[in-house]
Amino acid sequence: MKKFFTEQLLAWNQEQNTRTMPWKGIKDPYKIWLSEIILQQTRVEQGLPYYEQFTTAYPTVQHLAAAPEEEVFRMWQGLGYYARCKNMLAAARQIVDTFQGQYPDTHEQIQTLKGIGPYTAAAIASFAFNSPHAVLDGNVFRVLARYFGIHTPVDSTAGKKEFAALAQSLLPANQSAVYNQSIMDFGAVVCKPQQPACLQCPLSAKCVAFKQQLVAQLPVKTKKLVIKKRYFYYIVLEYKDQVYIRKRTENDIWQNLHEFILIEMPGPINANELEAYTAFKEVMHNIPYTVQGISPAFKQQLTHQTIYSQFILLTAAKAPELAHYMAVPRARLNSYAFPKTITDFLQNKSLGLF
Ligand code: SF4
Repeated sequence: MKKFFTEQLLAWNQEQNTRTMPWKGIKDPYKIWLSEIILQQTRVEQGLPYYEQFTTAYPTVQHLAAAPEEEVFRMWQGLGYYARCKNMLAAARQIVDTFQGQYPDTHEQIQTLKGIGPYTAAAIASFAFNSPHAVLDGNVFRVLARYFGIHTPVDSTAGKKEFAALAQSLLPANQSAVYNQSIMDFGAVVCKPQQPACLQCPLSAKCVAFKQQLVAQLPVKTKKLVIKKRYFYYIVLEYKDQVYIRKRTENDIWQNLHEFILIEMPGPINANELEAYTAFKEVMHNIPYTVQGISPAFKQQLTHQTIYSQFILLTAAKAPELAHYMAVPRARLNSYAFPKTITDFLQNKSLGLF
């Protein structure tokens, strides 16, 4: 069953795999690594333009390591999960400082880089150096769970161990790069999460899920995704063409990105009535102002949270004293990295508010 699996997969890759991606087949570990980091939690179509931008702006790890943090964060804008960006920059600097600018070439050393776990290290080590390490991403979990009929939850410790051992046992000698790429592509284009192409699948003759009609039940996951709703009311306070912003430093979403004066409410409110709330009064205490406008609600969907934001534009009648916020000329706002929802607001000229 295992031999059939590996042989069919490699044959499929050679004869039918038409999935093209700019990083496929390249051996530069730096570019492979960039593609892996960009694609974590991101769809290929969404990640592709970012990969192009990053490799053009920073063709080598030295270029990335020397780049100003703010510039890199701005380029990352829209990809979400900013910890990935922060770790990516830290790892680039680590390669320059600790590995003399040479990308490490063993699975063990690659794992010492910031933000790289065993599976990403396996992908880089196998694609760049053909090291014998099996990749285990969402696509691989799904293909293995269905073909072998495994019901152990893929997000459990036992499941991770079981799938890792199975994946490793399937790896053909000296062909880890092409095999890993094949199984990932196969999961993306044939054994897809919804409506897999079982009738055209070269594995169907021995696929347990197909034969036992379990395709829709596999893979099994234990944790249900709980999505929390959050309500952000942003005060966009202007005084003499300067606007007040701050960098988010808390251990929360959007760390290291900038924002206007935030009032978070436990539930939705009528933004016209925000002035009546204590949180607003505390912030605007002693600052005379006039209201210029209120935006409609903007929505940003994150994996675990839905963020609803509204922007309240105020003009201060005297220079505000606000701890933790800095005054930035309105024309320079675009040199700061903001979460997508704020960028959407700033770019939406049709509102006529900003
Ligand atoms: S037969 Fe269907 S479920 Fe089984 S491996 Fe092929 S596509 Fe996946």
